[in-house]
Formats: sequence, structure tokens, C-alpha cells
Amino acid sequence: MRTYPRLFVGGEWCEPSTAETIEVVEAHSEEVIARVPSAGPADVDRAVAAGRRAFDETDWPRLPIGDRIDAVRRIVDGFAERAEELARTISSENGAPIGFSRLGQVAAPIDIMNSMIDVAAGTAWEERRTGRYVDYLVRREPVGVVGAIVAWNVPQVLIATKLAPALLSGCTAIVKAAPEASVDAMMLAEIIEAADLPRGAVSVLTGGAEAGRAMVEHPGIDKISFTGSSAAGREIGARCGSSLKRVSLELGGKSAAVVLDDADLETLAKGLRFASFVNNGQACAAQTRILAPRSTYDEVVDAVAGSADSLRVGNPLDPSTKMGPLVSRRQRDRVRDYIAGGRRDGARLVTGGVDAPPGQTTGWFVQPTVFADVVNTMEIAQEEIFGPVVCVIPYDDEPDAVRLANASRYGLAGSVWTSDADRGLRVARSVRTGTFGINGYAPDPLAPFGGYKESGIGREWGSFGLEEYIELKAINGIPT
Ligand code: NAD
Repeated sequence: MRTYPRLFVGGEWCEPSTAETIEVVEAHSEEVIARVPSAGPADVDRAVAAGRRAFDETDWPRLPIGDRIDAVRRIVDGFAERAEELARTISSENGAPIGFSRLGQVAAPIDIMNSMIDVAAGTAWEERRTGRYVDYLVRREPVGVVGAIVAWNVPQVLIATKLAPALLSGCTAIVKAAPEASVDAMMLAEIIEAADLPRGAVSVLTGGAEAGRAMVEHPGIDKISFTGSSAAGREIGARCGSSLKRVSLELGGKSAAVVLDDADLETLAKGLRFASFVNNGQACAAQTRILAPRSTYDEVVDAVAGSADSLRVGNPLDPSTKMGPLVSRRQRDRVRDYIAGGRRDGARLVTGGVDAPPGQTTGWFVQPTVFADVVNTMEIAQEEIFGPVVCVIPYDDEPDAVRLANASRYGLAGSVWTSDADRGLRVARSVRTGTFGINGYAPDPLAPFGGYKESGIGREWGSFGLEEYIELKAINGIPT
């Protein structure tokens, strides 16, 4: 078991202000694998003071972009050196299959940071423009001290997505990890320490919602960038609104995969292994409502069930595992309750619905589960379950499919499956979500990522994500 007695605040390891600790429990063995401090409001105060000093009193925000790029590159290098250790740690924490962790939990954050470096290198930080009356400079200046609060499902993806653009634009940052993913956060703190950034440029706090709330309320923080549930996002958005603090929110989803009557069902079955079940279904963009035409309904149900049944469930550290346990007992129980609710509401259980695979005595497992004959208004079709549970919902025609896809309070992602590119694009253009895929779902770190409706406010990745950490300044009337 690893014990971290201190917090990484303002560039050094400090005694926490409280004696409270968080026990990190392995999803597969249910054993405590680490103990970390649970940061309190006084630790947040200290981290904000350090972030403010680095922002207000050092030249960090005004360094040439090349220097900040070098700093982020040093983080990337440190991250890459510990790639396998990070992948195994995250799989232990949240149950992600190791094959996915190596790519989606570790290679992806590296890719995101490198992509953001390229974007920053190509950004016009100060440009001269001719207006209607005067010539002016447009300057891109950092927003200030950033509070980054993240979820546990893809912890380092979420941190990299916020930390890289924050640092590249000249902000300083306080990262608050999710309790379940505290160990990889401590590893990141070690990597940042070794990257030799200016003191206070980054603090990493482990702690719960109380620490997050203290950040949201803190007058020394200029911007909150949050990824987590819509429930917490709503509260954070309201609190930031009352102090006019800048805020970005990346929240939940209940995305639809629209299967057209000309879809290749083998492609669908293969594609849903990622689009619906990636990371054990613990993915904000998971396509958990499969909309199927009545004309091929039974075949689509078979294809979706085949996709679910093809996933080998087991120890996430075993390379042959395609689906591991859920992150916690609480999450497993939540998912179980939704499955029971689906049955009560009259949905037909096609496969799954049981817990551990045979022989598995520990771990918070839920077998990949498919419900058919689901009505879009049922709880299992409207609530984000955040586990390996999908619903197959019948539709009449293409407009009905689009109507059903949009009949959700979320708007994060989606996909369409068809042999006809034009039909696919037509559906893609009609669904009100921030991202969409055709015959698959493949996020790209240069394309904007974010949600419509209750899935969030703002966009991450690429130039769109960098802009979230920038204030635009116009200096008017410059000499010609
Ligand atoms: P959560 O909202 O419970 O917690 C997320 C983080 O916020 C944690 O660090 C937590 O300690 C902190 N927190 C909780 N309440 C807070 C509050 N009131 N004020 C400040 N901080 C608070 O979410 P979770 O269960 O950890 O994560 C799952 C959710 O995250 C799902 O809804 C999922 O869809 C969403 N998510 C969204 C994206 C996206 O990009 N849109 C990506 C990953 C996860």
C-alpha cells in the first residue's frame, strides 16, 4: 500500500491542514491500495495564494510562448517515462481494462498535451488588425488562476485537457483530483515537481467535494474548469455565476447511436464495443441509447447483444480483459438499481443483468447489459447510468429517429450507422450534440469537444479549448 502524507502545493510537498485522509480502494480486489490527504479549505487557500503569487508576481504569464511550451514538454516527457505505471495505477483505481488504459488513459493525455502545444505554437498571441476607425492590437492574455476539478473515469485525460491549455496560455493552475483517482494524481504531482515549473504554477490537491467547493467559492481563482456530473455542474455554474467567475463545464451524457436501415451490422457490433462499452461504460460520451428502425429491429438487437457478449469480463490488469469492474461499490449499486428499474418498467433484458462473471469473488462487476423494447421516456433511457448498460429503442422513420435522439436533456455525443454517407451527414447535422460520429465514434484532440444542453458549457481541445483560458484584449489606436 502506498501512503502519501503530504500535498503538492505551490511547488513543494506540504503537511495537509487536516488529519483527514482518503483511502483509495482497488476496483478489482476491493483492497485499500493507497492513503492520501483529503485537502481542506485551508489547503485550497494555500494553493490559491501560491498560484496568485506565480501569476501576479512572476514573469510566467508573460514568458515567450516557447518557454511555456518547453515547460509543458517536460511534463509530457515525465508522463511518458511513467506511462506503464500510470496505466496500471489507473486500471487498479477505476477498473479500466489495461489495454484501454495504455491508450485511453495514458497515450491519450500525451496526445492531448502535444496537440495543445502545436495549437499554442500556431496561435497569434498578439496580432495587429485594422478596424473601422483605428488600427488595434488583439492580445490573447491568460485568464488568471485556474481551478481544474475533475472526475475519476479518465482522470489524466481530463487533467491534461485543462492543464496544458491553462499553462500554455500563461495561467497558473490548481488541480483537484477525484478521490477515487488520487494515486495517479499524486504521480502527476511528482512529474510536475520534476518538470521544474515556477513555484506555484501548479498545485495538485487530493480531496472531495468540500475542497472543490472551496475552490469554486475562492475569490482568488479566476476560472473554474469542471468535468463531472451535471448535478455538481449545475451547482458550480450557479456559484460561479454569482461571482461572475469564468466557468467551463463538461458534464454528463445519454448519447444516441442512430442505426439506419442500411447499416452494416457487423461494423455496428464492432464499433459499439468502443462507442458504448469503452472504459466499462464509464464514459461521458458512451452511446447508450441505440435507436433501431422497426424494419431491422431484431437484427440490430442481436448485433448489440453480440457486441456486449463479445467483451471478456475480468481482472482489468489481465491483457485479455475487455471489461473490468466498476469504480466502486456505490457505482455498482447505482447501476444495479437502474437495471432493476429497467426490468420493473417493462424493458426486455436481452443479455447481462448479472454481476460478477463465474469464479470472480471480488470486484464491483456488472456484466455488459442490453435492454430491448425500451421506450425513450423510461428512466433507463433518460438517466446517465455510467456503466455497461445500453437500451435498444425502436423508431418509425428517419425524422422519428432524429426526434428521439434529441429527446434527451443531454447533448454530448452521438453517432449514425449507415452505408449512405449523405444520409449519415443529414442525421449528423440534425442531432443537437457537441460531437458526432459516422459509423463509429472517434474523438480527435484537435476537434472541439463539449456538450449542448445539460452536457455542459464551453469546449475543450484544439484551438477551441485553448480559447477557454484566454481573455481577449483590444489595444486601440496604435500608431500606423
Ligand atoms: P462528480 O460530479 O460527483 O465529481 C466530479 C469532481 O467534482 C470530483 O473531483 C468531486 O470531488 C468534485 N465535486 C463534486 N461535487 C462538487 C461540488 N459541488 N463543487 C465542487 N466540486 C465538486 O462526478 P463523478 O461521479 O466523479 O464523475 C462522473 C460524471 O462525470 C459523469 O456524469 C460523467 O458523464 C461526467 N464526465 C463528463 C465528461 C465530459 O467531458 N463531458 C468526461 C468525464 C466524465
